[in-house]
Amino acid sequence: MTAVMEPPKKNAAADYINQILNLVKAKNPAEPEFHQAVLEVLESLRLVLERHPEYQEAKILERITEPERVLMFRVPWFDDKGKVQVNRGFRIEMNSAIGPYKGGLRFHPSVNLGILKFLAFEQVFKNSLTTLPMGGGKGGSDFDPKGKSDNEVMRFCQSFMTELCRHIGPDTDVPAGDIGVGGREIGFMFGQYKRLRNEFTGVLTGKGLGWGGSLIRPEATGYGCVYFAQEMLKTKKDKLEGKVCLVSGSGNVSQYTVEKLLDLGAKPVTWSDSDGAIYDADGIDREKLAYVIDLKNNRRGRIKEYAEKYKKAVYNPIDRKLDHNWLWNIKADCAFPSATQNEINAKDAANLIKNGVKVVSEGANMPSTLEATKLFLEHKILYGPAKAANAGGVATSGLEMAQNSARISWTREEVDDRLHKIMISIHKSCLEAAEKYGTPGNYVNGANIAGFLKVANAMLDQGLV
Ligand code: NDP
Repeated sequence: MTAVMEPPKKNAAADYINQILNLVKAKNPAEPEFHQAVLEVLESLRLVLERHPEYQEAKILERITEPERVLMFRVPWFDDKGKVQVNRGFRIEMNSAIGPYKGGLRFHPSVNLGILKFLAFEQVFKNSLTTLPMGGGKGGSDFDPKGKSDNEVMRFCQSFMTELCRHIGPDTDVPAGDIGVGGREIGFMFGQYKRLRNEFTGVLTGKGLGWGGSLIRPEATGYGCVYFAQEMLKTKKDKLEGKVCLVSGSGNVSQYTVEKLLDLGAKPVTWSDSDGAIYDADGIDREKLAYVIDLKNNRRGRIKEYAEKYKKAVYNPIDRKLDHNWLWNIKADCAFPSATQNEINAKDAANLIKNGVKVVSEGANMPSTLEATKLFLEHKILYGPAKAANAGGVATSGLEMAQNSARISWTREEVDDRLHKIMISIHKSCLEAAEKYGTPGNYVNGANIAGFLKVANAMLDQGLV
C-alpha cells in the first residue's frame, strides 16, 4: 500500500514505462508492430501514472500488455486440384475487463503473431472508447484469399472455424471481418459454426442482412472515420464541403469513406491497392465509386483497371525502392489512410504537411509510423488516430450484437444515427482527456488515456485475474 500513500516520485512513472517497454520487447522478440503500438500508448500514459500510482501498484501495465490467452492452430484444407494446403490460424484474446473479446479476423499472407498482438492491443482501447461493453481481441491467418476460388475460400473458412469454434461464443469472444475477411468469408465461417455447435447465435458480426446482420455495419468504419474528421474540423469552425481528400486502399473502409465524403460535398481523388495507386484529378463520383465496389467486391480485380476505364485518371505502380508513397505527395486538404499499417512514413507525413494537409483521419489500423505521428502532432495537424477515428466499425458491431441479443433489427437511419452519436462522443472524450492531462488538442494522448482509464479501472475493480 505504500505507493498509494506516498506522493509519486518525479521520475517514477517514466521509469515504470521504460521498464514495461523493455519487458514487452524481451517477452515478445521480433514483434516490431506490437512494440510500436505499446510504445505509442505508454508514451501517452506518463501523466496518468504520475497522478495514479495505484495502477503501478496493481501492475496494470504488465497485465494489460500480456494477452489473457493466445491461440495458435493448424488449418489444413484441400485446394481445387485436390492438393493439401496448410495455413496457420490465430486468435489473441487480449483483455475482457469490460466485455467479451471483440475484434476482427484478418486473412493476409503478412499475418503473424506480432501483427495480431498489435491489433488486439489497439482494439482494447478502441473498444473502450466506443462506450459499449466490449473487450479486445484479434485473429486471423496467413491465408491469402486473393486468386482463390469461392470453393477454396469456403473450405479454408470451414477448417479455420472447426478449431476456432471451441474458443468463441456470443458471450465469450465475437470476431468480425478485417483485411481479406468480408461478407463472403463471414458467411462461410458462420455456417460452419452453426453446423458444429448446433446453435444460431450472434457469434460473428458483419453477418448478411437476412441472417442477423445489421444495416450500416459494412459502411460503419468508413462513415465513422469521416464523421470523426468532421468533428475535428468543427473545432476550427471548418467543414468537409469542397475539401480535396486523399483516400488509400480500395476495400471496405476506403469505399465507404469515399461514399460519406461525397455525401458531405468533399472531393475524393485517390484509390490504391497493394500493387499501385490511382489519382483522378476530376474527383471520384458516385458512378466511379459503384465501379470500384463492383471491381473489388464482385469481380475481385485490381485498381489499375480504374485507369483503363476512366482515361483521365493516372495509375502508378508501387515502387518499393522509393522512400515515399506517391499517393501521399498529391496536393490535398485531408488524408484518409485506409489500407494497412505503417503506410505513412516520416517522408510521407512531411509531404502531406508541405502540401497543406489540414486533417488526417485514420481508417486503417496504425497506418502512420511513430515518426509520422510525431510530425503531425508537431505541426498541429488535426490528427485522428486509428483507435478513435476508425472505432465506428467495431461500435456498429456492438450495435449488431445488441440487436441479435434482443432479436430485433433497427432501421438504417437508426443505426447511422447511433453510429454518428458514438463518433461525436468518442471525439469529445478524446478532447476532454487530452485537455485534462495537459495536452489540449492532442487526440493521440486523448484516445490512449480515455481508452486506458476505463479498462484499467475495471481491472482494479475485478481483482487479480
Ligand atoms: P479490405 O481487405 O476490404 O481492403 C484492404 C485494402 O487495403 C485493399 O485495397 C488492399 O489491397 C489494401 N492493402 C492491404 N494490405 C496492403 C499492403 N500491405 N500494401 C498496400 N495496400 C494494402 O480491408 P478493410 O478495408 O476492411 O481494412 C483496411 C484497414 O482498415 C485495415 O488496416 C483494417 O485493420 C482497418 N479496419 C477495418 C475495419 C473494418 O470494419 N473492416 C475496422 C477498423 C479498422 P489488395 O486488394 O491489393 O490487398
